[in-house]
Amino acid sequence: MLTFKNINALTTTLFISLLIGELYVNIPVLAYVILVLSWLLITIIGSFNILWNYHLMAFNSNKNHKEKHVAITFDDGPNIKYTPQILELLKSHQAKATFFCIGKHVEKHPNIIKNIVNDGHTIGNHSYFHSNYFDFYRKQKIVNEIEKTNNLVETIIGKKMTLFRPPFGITNPSIARALKQTKHKVIGWDIRSLDTVKNDEQKILNRIIKKISPGSVILLHDSKEITVSVLEQLLLFLQENGYQSITIDTLFNIEAYA
Ligand SMILES: [Zn+2]
Repeated sequence: MLTFKNINALTTTLFISLLIGELYVNIPVLAYVILVLSWLLITIIGSFNILWNYHLMAFNSNKNHKEKHVAITFDDGPNIKYTPQILELLKSHQAKATFFCIGKHVEKHPNIIKNIVNDGHTIGNHSYFHSNYFDFYRKQKIVNEIEKTNNLVETIIGKKMTLFRPPFGITNPSIARALKQTKHKVIGWDIRSLDTVKNDEQKILNRIIKKISPGSVILLHDSKEITVSVLEQLLLFLQENGYQSITIDTLFNIEAYA
């Protein structure tokens, strides 16, 4: 399997082979350069693509799921304006979802967290600050952020979250080590809506619906206005096509809290 560990082992083996080869033939410097650049390229792509399971194993979709169920997920909330609108829409379609919340927002809107849980949705951890530099943090700093958000939510709902979605979906060795310590399960996705970058509702919706299959995990953001109208259309599509949205823990049959 294409994992960080395997690629490191392969690169090291090839590197040693080149060194041994030096004893017999003249190995051009270019061979070493290509080897290092290949390692770097694969590692960068693997770090940015949670579907690869490069640094850690994530729950990205459940393709063994036979029923027409999908899991809609929302990142970056709770948001004072859009999360309540999203909760209303979900309620009117009897759909369940999972919200990966940012600690600093949880702190400001504890009542929204209560409403999410009371409506039967699931809450997961999405770091405390969601900093652009999160991926450069050392292990302990990552652990501290995850625990800070977990403690906050625990004071509101009385349970510890065990699901985590890395900010930007980026993973690296420090994040992998941190999550090993906090024992969080990592949740990825197989359908990225791009609702934070695209501003054409129809394009976002089409991107999602053409990829939908039983067991899919859909990434949306409850921090964006456009997501509310996309969700409305998506819920109609699901209903018309016999699909139902369920929580991540139900889809993968895992525990969301400890
Ligand atoms: Zn995020």
